Amino acid sequence: MNLGTALIHNGHETEPLTGALGVPIIQTSTFDQGDLSAPQEYDYARSGNPTRKALEEIIATLEGGAKGYAFGSGIAAISSVLGIFSAGDHIVAAEDVYGGTWRILHAFYKRWGLETTVADAADPDALRRAIKPHTKALFLETPSNPLLKITDLKACLGIAHEAGLLSIVDNTFMTPYFQQPLKLGADIVVHSATKFLGGHSDVISGLAVTGTEELGKQVYAVQNSFGAVPGPWDAWLVMRGIKTLKVRMEAQQASARKLAAWLLTHNKVEEVFYPGLESHPGRHIHEAQASGAGAVLSFKTKTLEQALRFLGKVKLAATAVSLGGVETIASYPVKMSHGSMPPKERARLGITGTLIRISVGLEDAEDLIADFDQALQ
Ligand SMILES: *Cc1c(COP(=O)(O)O)cnc(C)c1O
Repeated sequence: MNLGTALIHNGHETEPLTGALGVPIIQTSTFDQGDLSAPQEYDYARSGNPTRKALEEIIATLEGGAKGYAFGSGIAAISSVLGIFSAGDHIVAAEDVYGGTWRILHAFYKRWGLETTVADAADPDALRRAIKPHTKALFLETPSNPLLKITDLKACLGIAHEAGLLSIVDNTFMTPYFQQPLKLGADIVVHSATKFLGGHSDVISGLAVTGTEELGKQVYAVQNSFGAVPGPWDAWLVMRGIKTLKVRMEAQQASARKLAAWLLTHNKVEEVFYPGLESHPGRHIHEAQASGAGAVLSFKTKTLEQALRFLGKVKLAATAVSLGGVETIASYPVKMSHGSMPPKERARLGITGTLIRISVGLEDAEDLIADFDQALQ
């Protein structure tokens, strides 16, 4: 079955009791256990809820994994997965992981004795060199944020495998519609479902999928004891979003391609970062591991004033944090997603004041281009 079909037909398209097309929202904190001698599937909703479970099964199916888990946010999913490690363990992470991932590793888990080294994941040898005797996992994200750098997943997951490390891939930008890291050898995939999976800028949610039942048990132990679970309404909103993932990804990507090509020709634009561009350095690697370039791009204006003026004048894009919604969003990584990163580190990575990240929505590409043009004048 192709993924477009699996988005609709995944075992949860009809509710068996009533025939309803969709998953019911079971709004309860606890479950009547009736006969205590017969164990039942649900006892307390932190430990399990049928609405949440449907979402967990759907994402596991879509990613081709063994077990799926839903969380109250993408960062809750990432933090909970990192919770399977122990004090004294070491993680090697891509240096341009999502700002919040950088913060949880450096400012939170570090205090609990989990050590992290970051390396340029566009260079597999740099990752290999960062591995220490007590390294337990590799944490990757591709395309990266906000510069859309590409990590060679096969090469890097191969390095992890060789060194006996677990590999975790943040698949938020691509979604399983365009990229399925478990099939390339990753052990765990994490998502901010707040972004393309939810797709409508109306829910904060996160997901994790493990390649094996055994890893699933470890993640479940953290989910249940840490308790960063979503409510059933939020789980339902993500399932509703997933049903239209294909059409949204295709339409938003088509506009992103047009916008990227147009930006490349603009005289106020210094550089455009989009894996669908001929000139993108990681394009061939990306095309070998993903079936689309996605709907997120970044560009640098020639001057700081031009960037600030663009953000002030653009009308069809909200100036906001987040991405992956039906509405176009312009964000300013220096102040937003990477605001929590030390300025020196930011500068080293090329995240400058002239950099603007665009998540392309469902508006007409021609209207977006006309609006961006007036905002750049
Ligand atoms: C947004 C985002 C996260 C964090 O997800 P939240 O839902 O905001 O907690 C993690 N990784 C990536 C790539 C993201 O874009």
